[in-house]
Amino acid sequence: MPIRNGSQYISGLRDGREVWYGGEKVADVTKFPQFEAAVRSIAELYDMQHEPDTRELLVCHSEEVGQEVGRAFQIPRTADDLRLKREAYFAWAQANCGMVGRSPDFLNVMLAALAAKKSFFAEDSAERANNVFEYYRFVARNDLFMTHALLDPQLDKGKLRNEQSDPAICLQVVDENENGIVLSGIKRIATAAPYADELLVWPFPPTFQRGEESYANVFAIPMNTKGLKTICRPSFSNIGTTRDFPLSSRFDEMDATVVFEDVLVPWDRVFVYKNVSLLNRMYRDSRMRELTAHQTNARLEAKLGFVYAVVQRLAEAQGMEGRPEIMEMLGEAAVKIEVVRSTTRSAEYQATIDPENGVLYPDLASLQAGRALGPIYYPEMIDMIRKMGGGALVQVPVSMDEFDSPIGSDIEKALRGASINGREKTQLLKIAWDLCGSEFGARHELYEKNYAGERGALLAGIQREYLRKEFHLGHFDEFLEAL
Ligand SMILES: Cc1cc2nc3c(=O)[nH]c(=O)nc-3n(C[C@H](O)[C@H](O)[C@H](O)COP(=O)(O)OP(=O)(O)OC[C@H]3O[C@@H](n4cnc5c(N)ncnc54)[C@H](O)[C@@H]3O)c2cc1C
Repeated sequence: MPIRNGSQYISGLRDGREVWYGGEKVADVTKFPQFEAAVRSIAELYDMQHEPDTRELLVCHSEEVGQEVGRAFQIPRTADDLRLKREAYFAWAQANCGMVGRSPDFLNVMLAALAAKKSFFAEDSAERANNVFEYYRFVARNDLFMTHALLDPQLDKGKLRNEQSDPAICLQVVDENENGIVLSGIKRIATAAPYADELLVWPFPPTFQRGEESYANVFAIPMNTKGLKTICRPSFSNIGTTRDFPLSSRFDEMDATVVFEDVLVPWDRVFVYKNVSLLNRMYRDSRMRELTAHQTNARLEAKLGFVYAVVQRLAEAQGMEGRPEIMEMLGEAAVKIEVVRSTTRSAEYQATIDPENGVLYPDLASLQAGRALGPIYYPEMIDMIRKMGGGALVQVPVSMDEFDSPIGSDIEKALRGASINGREKTQLLKIAWDLCGSEFGARHELYEKNYAGERGALLAGIQREYLRKEFHLGHFDEFLEAL
């Protein structure tokens, strides 16, 4: 199948999947009001693959797949490949102000990374390595949208999965037969699951122990697989006019829990099977981190840029943009964007070819810096919106339509800005509130803090693997000895 457009993506979702919202089964996810905006935001990205201005950037030929694919599926081999991939991620992120964290490129590049390192899966068997590679080709060829679910439910953290009061809660293999493996149990949090095409499961964090073998499986299945249930959180999508809820009405991605009830996964969709040691090494040794963090940092740059613009415009609206303390705050914001922006460029500049597969990997240490700083920078910049907006953030009328009502002139005067009228300033404040005060905004702060795993674990990992540690220690020791 050629590169999909938005309507092809949407029609693919009418496939009999089992999605639950508010205790009710959703008949058609494409028409369900709480998902409509999110589905549209993904469809818009697929449409961009066909627009003359963006097609060349977003689509490329893939040797491995043997046809044109979305840019994220490309396995990078040159500096240009990496640059173009980053530019494509950024273009998709800008289309939604960086607010769609799990846009298709996130998992598409993860899958490309797994395929590029199929040798890792060959440690289990040649068949599993082939499964990974052929699955990548299948998803890329059909231009599918994937979600993933890594975590077990938050149970007793002092116990292994098999030691929990109910060891059947965490997703595990309960049977196997000539057709495949059978799994039951729960995984979370699968963002976009209600309106994704495929689900990839790989358990995380990589701390599995002996005794947990039946939980240590990596595989992928279509979202309409028999026995797979998707259970949604409350929607934050503020269904209403785009002018009143400029971001949440358009970009609220849904987060979900996935429940497996005797789900059959065909053998050719199994990538790791009951293999604790391989699973524990997968995150690092598949080198997925290098390629996915390249995408997530490009997205974060777009998001921080959008927040910066909101703070700047709020300052201008009050004629405060030239005051030293405001300049200082905006300067801080600009520095944060540039630091995150630099991580992708630095990673490309320091990229190295892996002789095993000829793939050009961006520098992990540079990218991890972006991942570790994002959870700090994003909330700090959202706080700048709160600081700059002050009480005006809770002064906005219920609806922009009120400007055309009998009280329109009162609101106009009450919300007038230094250089913009009340209507324009209110529109700005509505965007600001969606970012810093709405449920959507709170979810985004949580997302940036957690999407790449718990920050403490991330930092400990950075220290454990720090490539330039010996270099710095060596210099210090020489200095010490010379005293
Ligand atoms: C908006 C959002 C979207 C997400 N989307 C996805 C997705 O698409 N796919 C997906 O798979 N996941 C997704 N996640 C999950 C995300 O990866 C996790 O939230 C993250 O890894 C943290 O894990 P957790 O939620 O289990 O928190 P926990 O790890 O349970 O952390 C909770 C608290 O417990 C502490 N803690 C944890 N373990 C220990 C320990 N051993 N000792 C002491 N303290 C401990 C932590 O420091 C933290 O303070 C999403 C999360 C969010 C918030």
